Amino acid sequence: MPDNLTAVVTAFGKAPELQEIPFRSMAPGSVIVRIDAATLCGTDAGRWSGKFKQGGDDQPFIQPLTLPYVPGHETCGMIVEIAGEAHDILNARLEVGDRIISSYGHCGTCYYCRVTRQTTFCNDLKAFGYSHPDRMMGGCARYQYYPPEGTYIRVPDGLPPAVAASGTCALRTVMHGFEHVGRIEPHESVLVLGTGPLGLYSLAVARESGAREVLVIGAPEPRLQVAREWGADHVLDLRAMPEVTDRITWVRDLTGGRGADIVFNCASAYSMVEAMRMARPGGKLVEIAHSAGDDIPVPPMLLFRGVRPLFPISAEARHFHQAMEFLAAKRLRYDFGRMISSAYTLEETGAALRGMAELTEVKPVIYPNGMPAQAA
Ligand SMILES: [Zn+2]
Ligand SMILES: [Zn+2]
Repeated sequence: MPDNLTAVVTAFGKAPELQEIPFRSMAPGSVIVRIDAATLCGTDAGRWSGKFKQGGDDQPFIQPLTLPYVPGHETCGMIVEIAGEAHDILNARLEVGDRIISSYGHCGTCYYCRVTRQTTFCNDLKAFGYSHPDRMMGGCARYQYYPPEGTYIRVPDGLPPAVAASGTCALRTVMHGFEHVGRIEPHESVLVLGTGPLGLYSLAVARESGAREVLVIGAPEPRLQVAREWGADHVLDLRAMPEVTDRITWVRDLTGGRGADIVFNCASAYSMVEAMRMARPGGKLVEIAHSAGDDIPVPPMLLFRGVRPLFPISAEARHFHQAMEFLAAKRLRYDFGRMISSAYTLEETGAALRGMAELTEVKPVIYPNGMPAQAA
């Protein structure tokens, strides 16, 4: 049995302990991968710090987080074990040595799986990054179990592991958001709030979806520079215009006085009210930035603006597939590796989580099995 060193969170806000976890028994059709890269996002930081209270009556589809658990829900890896036969999303048989990602498993029998076909709300969702170490379903480990209820997707050739891993969270959620929006007409403007991975991916997909203009508001300057290079028509430094009312005016002035046809709020849940004012009356607001915290006051009259809120929650298998296809097809146009802020070893998982929690990191990557030949 190979060494399955795993970073285990045993106390909120404390550096994970490295523990040797035995390989679990495998369900038929499941696979175990040797993790090539595990990227982290704000969700990992929120869980680790104990601020992100998931589950409960309002989110019955997410299991409550209990200690101990293994962080990391954005991974790609090389198959080392297959229990029987496994196939990818295109129904091609998988072999040991193939490099894959996996969507989250869902039961296939509940109301959300069978009737509404919204599998991200499944009653028995098998998501990564917050389960007991024995389940081997966290990314901060040498090996990860991909259960058979998930859908496996090959990592396209030439894609750096860190970029592929980042596609399994930020970009697949953005793809889900664009599906909610539907077709973007050639006259439509898109505004992106936030220049982290969600915002930058939203910009790239909007650019490729035929939007007439793409506006971006964010910070700091290096991220804004990426936005300019990736084709944003107008870029505003948040810190240069600290007043919300000025920023709303900036957006409306650039959009015929109306506001943007489509707004992607990738900044914070607390930007939602600002985003509603930046969308045109009757426009669309895609809420991707989820934050923990107090209730958000919404002025009742603002609802008369008729902005349609859309909430892509996580993503379904096809969005993971679309994310990999987009990264492969557009990797020469966009240097996706620029989103990766720092690389860490498995032993340094605590520092990576702390950096994410303190916002000194944008998208840290952990290489649990050593730095790959082709890094981001
Ligand atoms: Zn994530
Ligand atoms: Zn289900």
